[in-house]
Formats: sequence, C-alpha cells, structure tokens
Amino acid sequence: MRRSITIVGASLAGLRAAESLRRDGFAGRISLIGDESHQPYDRPPLSKQVLAGDWEPERAVLTPAEKLEPLGLDLRLGVRATGLDVAVRELEVDGVPEPFDGLLIATGARCRTLPGTEGLEGVHTLRTLDDCLAIRAELDAGANRMVVIGAGFIGAEVASVAVGRGAAVTLVEALPAPFARVLGEEMGAVVADVHAANGVDLRCGVGVSTVSGVPGAMTVELVDGSGVDADLVVVGIGVVPNTDWLEGSGLTLDDGVVCDPTCLAAPNVVAAGDVARWTNPRTGESARVEHWDNAVEQGRHAARRLLTTDEEAEAFAPVPWFWSDQYDRKIQLAGRPNPDDEVRVVDGSTDEHRFAAFYGCQGRLTAVLGMNRPRQVMQGRALLEQGAGWDEALEVAAEWG
Ligand code: FAD
Ligand code: NAP
Repeated sequence: MRRSITIVGASLAGLRAAESLRRDGFAGRISLIGDESHQPYDRPPLSKQVLAGDWEPERAVLTPAEKLEPLGLDLRLGVRATGLDVAVRELEVDGVPEPFDGLLIATGARCRTLPGTEGLEGVHTLRTLDDCLAIRAELDAGANRMVVIGAGFIGAEVASVAVGRGAAVTLVEALPAPFARVLGEEMGAVVADVHAANGVDLRCGVGVSTVSGVPGAMTVELVDGSGVDADLVVVGIGVVPNTDWLEGSGLTLDDGVVCDPTCLAAPNVVAAGDVARWTNPRTGESARVEHWDNAVEQGRHAARRLLTTDEEAEAFAPVPWFWSDQYDRKIQLAGRPNPDDEVRVVDGSTDEHRFAAFYGCQGRLTAVLGMNRPRQVMQGRALLEQGAGWDEALEVAAEWG
C-alpha cells in the first residue's frame, strides 16, 4: 500500500498524473515539484493564441485554482529536483535529500540551441511562458522582420502567428521540405506550399552558418552564402529531454528516461510525457513522443502504474496523435508514418490545402493526415486503433466523398 507519491515536473504530464491519482481514489500525500514559478500552464497556446496577443497568459493555466485546491496537492513551485538515487529511494530537491515512496518523472524537455547564438540578444527559443512573452514583447514593440530557423512545429507555428501580426517572415529549414521527417517529403511539400501561399519566404535545404547583430539589426548568414536581415530571430530546432539531474541515479538514460512498456523505469519509479522513452507495443518502436495528447495519457497511465502490481500492470499502447495550427489550417496526424510508406490522398485536394491522406505499409494503415479534415482524422484514428488493413481503410474513406 503506497502512502505517498512524488511527481517531478509540474506541467502537463505531471499535473494530469496528480489529478488522475485523486480520481482513482489515492488519498495519500501527493507532492508536485516544478522548477517554474508560474502556476502550471499549457504550452500549445504559447505558439498560438498567447503569442498572437489574443489571449492573456492566465488563459493558458492548466487547472484553475478552484479545481486545484480540492485535490490537496503539496504543490512546490520554483523548486528543482537536483538528484536521485533509486537504490535507496532518495530524491534530492535543491540539494536537500528527501525520501520518496513512489516517484513519477515528468520533467519534459528544453530547447536545443543553435551553436554560437547562446546568450545573443535578439535570438529566441520558445518553450516557456517567459520565452513566449519575450517574443511577443518584441513584436508589440514593432519588430516586423523575423527569421525563423527550423521549420518544425515551433518554426511553422511562430511563422504563422508572426505573419498574422503583419511581420515579414523568412523560414529556414535544413531539410528539403518542412516536416519532411514527420510527414515525408510529398506531404512536407504541401505544408511548404501553405507557407508560401501565406507570404513566407521559405528557404529549404539550406543551413545557417552565423547569426549576428543586435535586436532590430540582426543578420542571419546561410551556408549558401546568402544573408537575411531581421529585427529578431526565433530558433526552433528541436528539444533535448531534461534528464541531466538523473545522471548517476541508477536509471537507464538514452535520449530520455528508458521505461518498460508499462512506463516503469525502476521499481517504484515511472516516467511520462516528453521525457519518457518506452516501447509502444502497438508499433514496436522505442521512442519519446513530444506531443500534448501523449503527455496527458501517459501521465495518467504512469500514475496508475504506481498503484498497480507488476502482475496487474498494463502496457501503454496508444495511437499517437497531434495537431498543429498554421494560418487558417488545422493539420492533424494520427499514427506514425514510416519514411517508405505509400501515401494516398483519400479525400479533398492537396492543391486546396484541404484533404485527408492515408499512409500504408505491407497491407496495413500506418497513419492518417488531415488538413482541415478533423472528422476524417478521428475516424482514421479509430481505424488505426482497430489495426485496420489498407483495403478496409480505403473502403471506409470511399464513403467520405
Ligand atoms: P513539459 O511541458 O516540458 O513540462 C516539464 C516541466 O518540468 C517543466 O515545467 C519544466 O520546467 C519542469 N522541470 C524540468 N526539470 C525539472 C527539475 N529538475 N525539477 C523540477 N522541475 C523540472 N503538442 C501538440 O500535440 N499540439 C500542439 O499544438 C502543441 N503546441 C506546442 C506549442 C509549444 C510552444 C510547445 C513548447 C509545445 C507544444 N506541444 C504541442 C507539445 C506539448 O506541449 C508537449 O508535448 C507537452 O508540454 C509535454 O508535457 P510534459 O509535461 O511532458 O513536459
Ligand atoms: P521539431 O519539430 O523537432 O523541429 C525542428 C526542425 O528544425 C526539424 O525539421 C529539424 O530538422 C530542423 N533543424 C534542426 N537543426 C537545424 C539547423 N541547425 N538549422 C535549420 N533547421 C534545423 O522541433 P521544434 O519545432 O523546435 O519543436 C520543439 C518541441 O515542441 C517539439 O517537441 C514539438 O513536438 C513541440 N511542439 C509541438 C507542436 C505541435 O505538436 N503542434 C507545436 C509546437 C511545438 P532535423 O529533423 O533534420 O533535425
């Protein structure tokens, strides 16, 4: 019988884990430790409504105070976990050791930085509310030439918001097309087309050599010898999981906290969200998933895992799913496409940027992509959950026309 649970990381996965423990009837002490000083907030609005200036930051709070209070959490904000020893069940918080009974690690990830730009004023990354407000303040102050380095999720969404605010945006991506690694080159080219249609100067297949200058007068030199002037630069080139504090803890670290399929990292220790790497039995792939829905569901699953025996424990086997808002398009992907999958548009038209596409491999449906096609993506997700075959999925899609 567990008496207390400590959760490190007071954000999406950690908070949803705490809420689910209470919902499941856990009456013991729950400590939720986070190194940010803000009330736990949601990150998607940071590259959308808050950055656009449509929402004030308070609207991004994950759980309002009146719903948080009844949970009776021991919420410790502005406090950092600095070490762990799983063998003796001891956590170190701001250098002070404290015992734990059950531990859930949800420390997420931080932005990768572009070498040579660390500390350079006018160069931003976007992960936290403070990062978002810093970029927003520059736009509010009249910055209107923006270079965005990396056309992944951050880059694409920041570019889209900045264009909406009247900025002239250059988007630089080392790959041949945006999202090429996630969606493949064919569908990446459709995303490229959406950016071009909205006036973005998209430079693909080219890296950055140097960034220099001061806010309002920055220059980004590209490896092809061209240079782009900007008022501000936003770098969105991926993240690294926050595992430094776990070095020497006894956990296996390998691009994240390595867990078994049930989210267990060691006896009495589980992990969830962006920091957790596990093998999803549905795909057989060992990976971290850096999306909102995964953080919510894995947070809940890992919390339950701390309350179950090894015999009762179930694998975490979701169909991964994400959305991304870019301009007036909602891009959604359910499943995990492989680079060599067949891609077939099954509804709408890519030219109109309004379509659904299936990815398939060896007679099976592997993923469903939609651009302004939410109903079709949700139906596709259900097909993936059922393990639908390619022909069966095509038959369902034939009804959509
Ligand atoms: P995080 O949200 O990173 O939270 C981890 C927390 O732990 C942080 O508060 C961190 O400061 C804290 N922490 C780290 N180390 C320590 C320590 N040693 N001690 C104490 N605390 C620590 N996903 C989508 O599917 N759709 C979207 O549209 C979308 N938009 C996004 C927009 C932005 C700007 C960002 C940054 C992400 C977006 N995501 C989106 C991804 C989604 O938000 C993440 O997958 C999710 O936040 C992961 O939650 P998490 O709790 O695992 O980690
Ligand atoms: P990301 O989605 O991994 O994309 C980073 C992109 O930058 C990749 O295309 C990457 O290419 C490219 N890149 C890497 N190094 C580069 C360089 N030196 N020059 C130019 N391009 C470079 O990461 P992100 O966009 O930074 O997002 C950060 C995190 O926030 C991710 O976890 C993401 O899932 C999350 N997020 C999610 C959403 C959403 O789901 N809607 C929205 C915002 C943020 P390579 O693949 O070749 O490295």
